[in-house]
Amino acid sequence: MIFRKKIIQDDATLEPKSEQKFTGLMGISSIFRNHSNETNLDTKIDRPLIEGSILMPESDLPKASTSKSIRLIQEVRKLEDRTIKPFVDYNEGRLFYPILSKIGEVQDNIEYLDSLVTDGILEQKIYEKLIVCPIHPDTFSSSVRLYCPDCHSMNVEKLKLFEHKKCGYITESTNFDFSDHNDSHCPSCKKPIKNFEKEIRVPAMWYQCNDCSEKFDNAVIKLHCRKHEHDFDTNSGQFVTTFSYKLKNSEISINSDISQIKDELLNLLQGFNFTAKLNVSIKGKSGNVHEIPIYGKSKTTNDSILIFIKNQPDGIDQSDMNSILVPKLDINPTNTLLVTISDINEGVDSLAKHYGIHLISEHDFSKIVSRVEEFVSEWYLENGAKK
Ligand SMILES: [Zn+2]
Ligand SMILES: [Zn+2]
Ligand SMILES: [Zn+2]
Repeated sequence: MIFRKKIIQDDATLEPKSEQKFTGLMGISSIFRNHSNETNLDTKIDRPLIEGSILMPESDLPKASTSKSIRLIQEVRKLEDRTIKPFVDYNEGRLFYPILSKIGEVQDNIEYLDSLVTDGILEQKIYEKLIVCPIHPDTFSSSVRLYCPDCHSMNVEKLKLFEHKKCGYITESTNFDFSDHNDSHCPSCKKPIKNFEKEIRVPAMWYQCNDCSEKFDNAVIKLHCRKHEHDFDTNSGQFVTTFSYKLKNSEISINSDISQIKDELLNLLQGFNFTAKLNVSIKGKSGNVHEIPIYGKSKTTNDSILIFIKNQPDGIDQSDMNSILVPKLDINPTNTLLVTISDINEGVDSLAKHYGIHLISEHDFSKIVSRVEEFVSEWYLENGAKK
């Protein structure tokens, strides 16, 4: 429980919980107009959704949930089989996905993972079926116990017969000494046994009770509820299904290459005499702070550029544009770029044009870089000519 509290606190400091999205474009620019004219905005607001996002103290404006998802994708790519596996706290009866803490989410936010399944980013798979106590189903911790059917002692041992295939010698497993894998010998023919699997057959197996010496084929199997210390019948147990989440091999997985493309764009801007930074917080005219993936400021002129990177398996839509529009209008840079490997949905193009956002959509990262280069060099030359 302490564990969980701590995570929530960390989470709170990492980033605001709300991820509100704009539902429409109407009035975004007018909000900023209002903003500059009005000192006390709190009294003047009549559009709760938009306001909530903009006026929330210390909040970054509506933040595309993609940035968090992309961070998660980057983390998942590092994992074996690109799969997020659950971690079960058997004592507390809780299910965690520790990777979530790396992106500032609480570790048991399964809804968030499920939302990525809905978005087509992750694929849900059954990880295991846990048998839980029917009386205490919130306790995941159960173990198997074997009992002697006669005296109900747990002091039961497994016995096997081993047969040396080569000579046909059969004896109880206790007579074969396999403790030294490289130097085992058949007790009968004394020939070396190099490959247990191949050379030894197990014709029979049974149990023996060490307390009453009874031999039996099937021990009584019970499940033991470890937290509440009682046995329950295997058939009475309930199932709890746990899930793992595998990164889909779709276009979205390329998103993790974003960190690389960011670095390349950063170098590119620096090559054109910009002071360029990644993931910077920029304060706009409204006083709100915006997180910008790439921000560049010319060392020689007053020019500045914002570069946004977004990828959506279903294409860039208006809500993606809206999340860019807010910082763009508030910071008012000389140029704003949106680069993406996704397709651009209908209507987004004209929207971008209308607000002076330059769209670059290419399915290939290197093409994106070269098109940004084209754009910046043209702009750079223009500036040089003006001087
Ligand atoms: Zn129980
Ligand atoms: Zn017994
Ligand atoms: Zn032998």
